[in-house]
Amino acid sequence: MQTLLDIIFPPRCVFCGEVSDGSRVCVVCRGELPWCGGVEIKNGVLVAAPLYYEGRARSGVLRYKKANVFQNDRALAELMAVCVRNHYLGKFRPDVITYVGQNAVQRYRHGFNQSRNLAVNLGGLLKLPVKPLLTKTLSLSKQSRSNAAERRKNAAGAYAARRNAAVKGKCVILVDDVITTGSTVGACAETLKAAGAEAVIVAGLAITRKQEERT
Ligand SMILES: [Zn+2]
Repeated sequence: MQTLLDIIFPPRCVFCGEVSDGSRVCVVCRGELPWCGGVEIKNGVLVAAPLYYEGRARSGVLRYKKANVFQNDRALAELMAVCVRNHYLGKFRPDVITYVGQNAVQRYRHGFNQSRNLAVNLGGLLKLPVKPLLTKTLSLSKQSRSNAAERRKNAAGAYAARRNAAVKGKCVILVDDVITTGSTVGACAETLKAAGAEAVIVAGLAITRKQEERT
């Protein structure tokens, strides 16, 4: 149903920004997005994401990360929810959803946390509670310039479980927007397991392909 708001602000595709037919993913993007059909193990953690981080998905995610548009959170979380239902539910019984933590500097700089926004919407769609279980203890500001081995070393010990994080015996879905080497989600999963979580599975929006890790 078209609302007045849709007429004044017609829905635009999350990925390319073009006015779309009412869906948040336009017909062209639906056909051309690099869909990822399976689950991958990254840095020892099970990761499911609807897209590969390349082409239209990459430019769309970068656009999404720049602009805090709440309708986009929902649209992208819907893609993630389909992925979680297909790959995890049935094999796992998740108890809670959490997201990769930010430190105070990042929170101040960005003003919002995409992984948190995606997690909140994913929780709504899957009817699971969403809780902040992790904090970031170190700044990894130079991360993008370091190689995979350095990233892993930096990431280990960079996260801590929150003092009130009740994860003992729980199956946790960890949300991160983009997963490249898996060093961040690996470190977060280790932290949650050390705090007593029984299983940690990752739901991402986009992941890099395996062969790209080696370059
Ligand atoms: Zn599009």
